[in-house]
Amino acid sequence: MRSLAAASGGTIQEVHVQSIDRVDAIVIGAGMAGLYQLYRLRELGLSIRVFESGGGVGGTWYWNRYPGARFDSESYSYGYSFSEELLQEWNWSEHFAPQPETLRYLNFVADKFDLRRHIHFDSRVTRAIFDEDRGSWEIETGDGRRARARFLITAVGPLSAPTLPRIEGRESFKGESYHTARWPHEPVDFSGKRVGVIGTGATGVQVIQEVAKTAGHLTVFQRTPNWCAPLHNSPIEPERQAEIQASYPEIFEKCRESHGAFLHAADPRSALEVSAEERVALWERLYAEPGFGIWMGNFSDILVSEEANALVSEFMRGKIRARVRDPEIAEKLTPKNHGFGTRRVPLETGYYEVYNQDNVLLVDVLEAPIQRITPDGVETGDATYELDLLIHATGFDAITGAFDRIDIRGRAGRTLKEKWADGPRTHLGLQSAGFPNLLTLVGPHNAATFCNIPRCIEQNVEWVTELLRYMRDHQYQRIEPTESAENEWTKHVYEIAALTLLSRTDSWFTGVNQNLPDKKHTFLAYAGGSPAYRARCNEIAAKGYEGFVLQ
Ligand code: NAP
Repeated sequence: MRSLAAASGGTIQEVHVQSIDRVDAIVIGAGMAGLYQLYRLRELGLSIRVFESGGGVGGTWYWNRYPGARFDSESYSYGYSFSEELLQEWNWSEHFAPQPETLRYLNFVADKFDLRRHIHFDSRVTRAIFDEDRGSWEIETGDGRRARARFLITAVGPLSAPTLPRIEGRESFKGESYHTARWPHEPVDFSGKRVGVIGTGATGVQVIQEVAKTAGHLTVFQRTPNWCAPLHNSPIEPERQAEIQASYPEIFEKCRESHGAFLHAADPRSALEVSAEERVALWERLYAEPGFGIWMGNFSDILVSEEANALVSEFMRGKIRARVRDPEIAEKLTPKNHGFGTRRVPLETGYYEVYNQDNVLLVDVLEAPIQRITPDGVETGDATYELDLLIHATGFDAITGAFDRIDIRGRAGRTLKEKWADGPRTHLGLQSAGFPNLLTLVGPHNAATFCNIPRCIEQNVEWVTELLRYMRDHQYQRIEPTESAENEWTKHVYEIAALTLLSRTDSWFTGVNQNLPDKKHTFLAYAGGSPAYRARCNEIAAKGYEGFVLQ
């Protein structure tokens, strides 16, 4: 039997492969997006096969099992909205649920809708080749499976390709060592141990505040401090549960109207048009409220006006100073190279107070960079830190990384990685020219990358499902965006990004990851907001999929 390499014009090899599974659609990933896409396409009457690299459903919530992992979105704004029965059956225990509960929820969904039988677990897609003659995609997995389908739908997640620090000697460390996104399934005991954490992004902040509770000693290696804000989590009492269950339509409507599909809508006023007292009053209120209000419910210009941003940053600086006893440590914890909200804001529970504990040490690795990791610990420019356990909270090859890790070849054998080497080019963040019938849920330049993600996942999945219904009803076999529609969307993405301070700040939104020196620094998300994005997607569909060629 010919291998995929043969179909793509590569060397013909004889390989021992299983027979090809032929279905209507292949979905890569069984996280929140993949599960819902599976559900919808099955409802449409299509045959589907899902390939999932993990041993279970859940994606992000399957892999990120580190202590302290939990939602930063209100639980009831995060769950699926498509099934009233599911909404009424599931009770979230906390306003911001911890990871084990979310994973239980996604398993519950998979069982309730009998989704597992369509999923191959422990099966990582390594190649996906478009066969021009057949007009279909063929995929190969690491465990030797092959499948062919007219449609290939990626649900690979924007933050699913972890990156380890590029530090000499990393592998020589002889203690326990984990990346937060590849955390063991068994509990990890920190008691009495000398623990080190590298990284202070949203993950680092969650893991640090948790580990500090039991570690014998904790050393935090911080390169860039982030502006963190209180989560204010609490249990959901039974009466509140009943209220939530009665008000799901309003909850989801509120999300639909807000820029990031959160329960927090921006204050339409400018921070500059109100008095100093009014400004501070709003900020104090938002700082005391649960969730992302301080980021998403703030004055409308804090992420576009440097002047407004400087004011809110000064307010946040005051909070750090008030919470951290040692002024020198407070200063180190205060970001200097970016304003509040221009990177993803980590939400925290007692994070700053951790640095008041005797068993916690903050090491500023901007001041004294890490030189190497040794069998016994970490060496910086001016000291050696002996450790029993080292945690890498060092982030991801964001948004494009999971695509790059699959050999995806479209028309004429061109790889997606080559095509996106200078930055992604897509139409709506859902398709890329030269890759017919490949649909990228939560792909680059898609609003779902800057969103309360399940809300935008539902929009992406429903749009794709309607597209496939339309194609079936009109007997179209193939869809691909035009170059001009793709150019226009890509230009629009960058123009919108340029209006915000986010595009001027190094972060995973802008493709900056110092462990990936070859990664192009370019805006990877879509900052125009979920209502505008949804409207554009709907308009395009209503015009018979304008900007796409249907054959
Ligand atoms: P991240 O924001 O990219 O943070 C990675 C951290 O590691 C940064 O502090 C980075 O420092 C540091 N780092 C990387 N390599 C290093 C090195 N060689 N030496 C020293 N420091 C190094 O990744 P993340 O914290 O995993 O978060 C990624 C995203 O996941 C978040 O922004 C969020 O969207 C999502 N997330 C969500 C939740 C939630 O919803 N509750 C929780 C966690 C994460 P520099 O900044 O200096 O590069």
